[in-house]
Amino acid sequence: MPRVSRLYPQPDGQKLGLVCPRCGCQHFRVVYLKRLPGGVLRRRRECRYCGRRITTRETTNE
Ligand SMILES: [Zn+2]
Repeated sequence: MPRVSRLYPQPDGQKLGLVCPRCGCQHFRVVYLKRLPGGVLRRRRECRYCGRRITTRETTNE
């Protein structure tokens, strides 16, 4: 079974429950995506309203 499909970036951070610490909105767009060894995915997200940037780390290994 292909496991690549799980690595696709999500449109925004709503499913992760991210909340902007500045304006409190939940709408982010991904501006940076990098896969690190060990199944770690780094995403830099930017708030659509105030431009605040948040870096998230997700583990994709199972
Ligand atoms: Zn914001």
